[in-house]
Amino acid sequence: MIPDYLAEALGEVAADTTGETAGYIPELATADPERLGAAFAMVDGEVYGAGDIDTAFTIQSISKPFVYALALSDRGFDQVLAKVGVEPSGEAFNEISLESGTGRPLNPMINAGAITTHSLAGPEGLQPAERVERITDGLSAFAGRRLQMDESVHASEMEHAHRNLAIAHMLGSYGVLTGDVRAVVDGYIRQCSLLVTARDLAIMAATLANRGVNPLSGERVVPEPVVRQVLSVMFSCGMYDAAGDWATQVGIPAKSGVAGGLIGALPGQIGIATFSPRLDSHGNSVRGVSLFERFSSDMGLHVMEVP
Ligand code: GLN
Repeated sequence: MIPDYLAEALGEVAADTTGETAGYIPELATADPERLGAAFAMVDGEVYGAGDIDTAFTIQSISKPFVYALALSDRGFDQVLAKVGVEPSGEAFNEISLESGTGRPLNPMINAGAITTHSLAGPEGLQPAERVERITDGLSAFAGRRLQMDESVHASEMEHAHRNLAIAHMLGSYGVLTGDVRAVVDGYIRQCSLLVTARDLAIMAATLANRGVNPLSGERVVPEPVVRQVLSVMFSCGMYDAAGDWATQVGIPAKSGVAGGLIGALPGQIGIATFSPRLDSHGNSVRGVSLFERFSSDMGLHVMEVP
């Protein structure tokens, strides 16, 4: 019954060919724009899906809430909050926007904050490659299987990383980042180049929905207070400058990525993931957003509604 519902929902959005694949990362621009899939992972470990749920694509910004979770658990709240705020920026994901005076990024969902949280994953003093390893291990634990990296997407993005490098140099000038800032950007882009499927993303989201315990493996990946923090920030900042529209119309803590993935996590209930590569002007998947609007209204998933 759920797979039928999902297949029907995919059918309803399939004709929408508006939006563009991410042009600023050449490897992503060549993605098959017709791919379309949706998966639900329940907190008891049941997974339902329809369409392209086993097609691999890069996680991109959907890595941000998970790496934020790892940084919070590895370093503690005080150390992370001293360097990255929790206020919505209302700006695009790649805006060079830092808190005036301190240079602290406004939140961990925009690139400035995510580059900083990347540097805070793992214990202090890790080498760049060890940090990437910690993050690959951590995201794999969220997914319940070993994730691989797409080296060609990483190389392609690194060649055009001027904006992220500029952000990192600004962070360096304020002392928010220390050491080799280029290595931090390289690591952050590696983190964004981890390959996932919609099925993986639904399970990762369900791990957040399930208080930080992976519903398939039973592993506790991060502590419960960390999950509350991460979901709160996803709710207010996960969709960048479309966060307010999303909060009112969909009402599910969520995160998008420029390869076309989109996740939502509803505490105690479900992890949802969609995949469709064409993006709107905010960098959010067009068909993904309409699928979530449908799921939210068809199933009464808005967190402000009494179930
Ligand atoms: N790697 C991408 C970047 O830093 C991620 C952006 C995104 O998915 N919104 O530009």
